[in-house]
Amino acid sequence: MSETPMRARAVVDLAALRANVRALRARAPRAQLMAVVKANAYGHGAVPCARAARQAGAEWIGTATPHEALALRAAGDTGRLMCWLWTPGDPWREALEADIDVSVSGLWALEEVTAAARATGRVARVQLKIDTGLGRNGCQPGDWEKLVAAARDAETAGLVKVTGIWSHFACADEPGHPSIRAQLTVFKDAIAYAEAQGLAPEVRHIANSPATLTLPETHFDLVRTGVAMYGISPSPELGTSEELGIRPVMTLSASLASVKRVPGGHGVSYGHLYTTPGETTLALVPVGYADGIPRSGSGTGPVLVGGKWRTVAGRVAMDQFVVDLGGDSAAPGDEAVLFGPGDRGEPTAEDWARATGTIAYEVVTRISARVPRVYVGDKDVEDTGA
Ligand SMILES: *Cc1c(COP(=O)(O)O)cnc(C)c1O
Repeated sequence: MSETPMRARAVVDLAALRANVRALRARAPRAQLMAVVKANAYGHGAVPCARAARQAGAEWIGTATPHEALALRAAGDTGRLMCWLWTPGDPWREALEADIDVSVSGLWALEEVTAAARATGRVARVQLKIDTGLGRNGCQPGDWEKLVAAARDAETAGLVKVTGIWSHFACADEPGHPSIRAQLTVFKDAIAYAEAQGLAPEVRHIANSPATLTLPETHFDLVRTGVAMYGISPSPELGTSEELGIRPVMTLSASLASVKRVPGGHGVSYGHLYTTPGETTLALVPVGYADGIPRSGSGTGPVLVGGKWRTVAGRVAMDQFVVDLGGDSAAPGDEAVLFGPGDRGEPTAEDWARATGTIAYEVVTRISARVPRVYVGDKDVEDTGA
């Protein structure tokens, strides 16, 4: 294993990730699993996380952009791989040559993909996306007949194979939300129509992490899990990670860069939003918003130092912030843990989300490239324990 980077590090526990994949598979025993590793695996590192997910049995890997998918192929991934966020002019040919399943939401995309199929002599594996109500990407139900007909023609011409029909939920993290049933109805109708027109998709899928965890009727042939694979609860409403049987994969910590005694009445960090209430000890944590620590954590973000929860004192700056140790002693080099699984008493990414008015998805995803990732629990062969 590499040396621990001194300033700060995000330790990524691949054994926890593998265990989370197995736990999610157990929630959806009849479905295949797609490990979603977009946005550098929500900040955890796409290549090692994709590899670990495969080791734990993920049949599919999913990314947003084609560039993310192509990077995984370049790193040696050979299994089923799908990407869904296409823009005109994107690398369709490269994706076909790399055996990537591509998502098509409209006629412009089908035209670009059939052109790439002609140019490469390959049959494009296409997954048609229906907008069942999210209102983002996906074919509107009113345009579905046209898209299905065009896809069927492209199949007959030997240019395309429709491998999947899929969609995405708007409110799967809000149990009982009426949109869930409504979206399922539209989804089933869209599938039935496409199949009646002669399409025979291998996989039909709509479930993200919250649906995988709480809505078995949404699993169909495949579930697409992102955040839960990284051990994070999709929403406080669904319970904590522990209650969901998953374990946070990333631990973000830094080494104190300075510890000093200061008198009462001492202003701290830009704007002097914090003033020491009496003589105390200030510790400097050498990470800031350039590392992805939310500036909105100024005065609110929790940090474990010397076994105690402290709160960011004053502003989070670009490279650093301060915590008031309330007179406790500490030494430069001591560890400050911003978030982790929580079992050493440290805050979790979910605690940071609450403290900064965002979701835990964003807390981990925004940790920037300046923070080195340190991988632990890596294994070439899947372990049988855990
Ligand atoms: C990000 C994403 C997912 C994974 O969502 P989670 O809530 O993180 O599980 C699944 N499908 C699509 C289309 C996505 O963009």
